[in-house]
Amino acid sequence: MVSTIQALPTEVVYLITAGEVIDSLVAVVRELVENSLDAGATRIVVSLWPQLWRVRVADNGCGMNLDDLQQAATAHSTSKIHSSADLWKISSLGFRGEALHSLTTLANLEVLSRPLGGSEGWRINYNSEGEVAEVDFAAIAPGTVVTVNNLFANCENRRQGLPATNQQLKAVQGVIQQIALCHPHVNYQVWQNDKEWFTICPAPTVGKLIPQILPQVRQDDLHEVNLKIPNLENSSLHLVIGLPDRCHRHRPDWVKVAINGRMIKSPELEQTILSAFYKTLPRDRYPVCFLHLTISPEQINWNRNPAKTEIYLNELPFWQEQITEAINKSLRISETNIKESVHTTRVSNLIKVAESKGEYNFNSSSSQSSENENYLKAIAQLSNTYIVAEHSGGMWLVEQHIAHERVLYEQLCDSWQLVPVETPIIIYQLSPTQLSQLQRIGLDIEPFGDKLWAVRNIPMMLKQREDAAEAILELSWGGDLQTAQVAVACRSAIRNGTKMSLPEMQTLLDNWQRTRNPRTCPHGRPIYLSLEESALARFFRRNWVIGKSHGI
Ligand code: ADP
Ligand code: MG
Repeated sequence: MVSTIQALPTEVVYLITAGEVIDSLVAVVRELVENSLDAGATRIVVSLWPQLWRVRVADNGCGMNLDDLQQAATAHSTSKIHSSADLWKISSLGFRGEALHSLTTLANLEVLSRPLGGSEGWRINYNSEGEVAEVDFAAIAPGTVVTVNNLFANCENRRQGLPATNQQLKAVQGVIQQIALCHPHVNYQVWQNDKEWFTICPAPTVGKLIPQILPQVRQDDLHEVNLKIPNLENSSLHLVIGLPDRCHRHRPDWVKVAINGRMIKSPELEQTILSAFYKTLPRDRYPVCFLHLTISPEQINWNRNPAKTEIYLNELPFWQEQITEAINKSLRISETNIKESVHTTRVSNLIKVAESKGEYNFNSSSSQSSENENYLKAIAQLSNTYIVAEHSGGMWLVEQHIAHERVLYEQLCDSWQLVPVETPIIIYQLSPTQLSQLQRIGLDIEPFGDKLWAVRNIPMMLKQREDAAEAILELSWGGDLQTAQVAVACRSAIRNGTKMSLPEMQTLLDNWQRTRNPRTCPHGRPIYLSLEESALARFFRRNWVIGKSHGI
């Protein structure tokens, strides 16, 4: 086998702003686990002995032959790129050929490796220049085991500068979780002082992995999509969002962005995500969202900081638009969304069996062609407050007031129209702040005598209302235009306790299911409760066989 690890040409070394890669225990774990992933591993075992400043990462990846092992820890040696042109084609996590070399200068480094398909394995200890100090045969399975011992032994102040052990361990856990979100098909097992600490099991998609990391979130609380980007080869957008009526957080700690296999910090893209959730969550709450973009490597420059957590991305506005669109789509209620949630394996199996027997004529095209989007049918009203709505997979209870509020709010956002009133509305006693607030949202208002003001135009939606003066006072109390829109929508929406006819309910449902954010009202309250047919079947134990003996 020919050696594939080579020293990088000097001009490439200058192009890489690497600086100090290894500055903590966490950095060691990150670099070694990334090497394992680059080697195609599907099982990675991380062992930590923090008091001994020792880390070991074992993997079942492609391994290295003896030549590569001898070269692996010399300065700027890598198998992943060979020239400066390759810097624009990076598809691996590593490319600087620095981690192992730095480790030899900061710690004792031992690597055991056996290439996939190779008949023997080797153990090498490196000296502090990254050269081979000792070579031995090693009996190991194909893969690689890297042990870093006595980290920072020669720079005591580096050790002193690091946070307390438990904080470092927390950071290690965090970094492994982040890596797992980006590479969910791998099994991660983590040990601490010879005891098993935690495991992350592989999952077919990141959405299925998230409940392992966020135990309070259930699979049904998430919506996952994987979109190809039209006209951009090899590009895709993978999105998992927490449905806003089911989960949110008190900090923006789950607004996560990854690009090409690595979690990054991108204030611009994080802001795009937060904006897409605007007015769908309660006040001071933040969404759960994981976004993974796959972008052609030449669009990205990873050399913004040594830890590669920041990047320069070409065509940022294009990506922002794609993200907003994808989130908007996921937040909407569409026939496919409803179907997805009810198409449990059981239901699909039932349909399959039915189809194969040929007794039923499932005309799948007819269900798709319901272009009128009336997949919710109003069937009754409960307590003059909830609309009972039926759809192909179960039933929903929709709270009439907030559903209507959502409809009106979006109409107001789309066109905030102020219309003149014939007789001015007279308002009594306004403070200067209230006055300027009303002027700020566009009201035409002027003094009308002692402590009186006349308002000559009002938001269209309030025009027919008897309580217009009261509504204007409410608007004067605060906030920006959006707050005013929420207030007007809330005031104009049908009250709970109002009786509605079936056609009225149907119109509301039709309008509501077409809104951009049907799941929550602008204050973040959930609008509907779903009782899926699959859940009903489970509750009523319809899988029990007793019915069969009675021929039911
Ligand atoms: P980089 O990852 O930037 O290439 P490193 O210093 O981290 O630089 O690793 C140097 C080289 O050693 C890698 O390019 C790779 O060929 C090899 N290597 C490191 N770790 C592993 C591993 N776990 N399995 C297989 N090869 C590895
Ligand atoms: Mg590396």
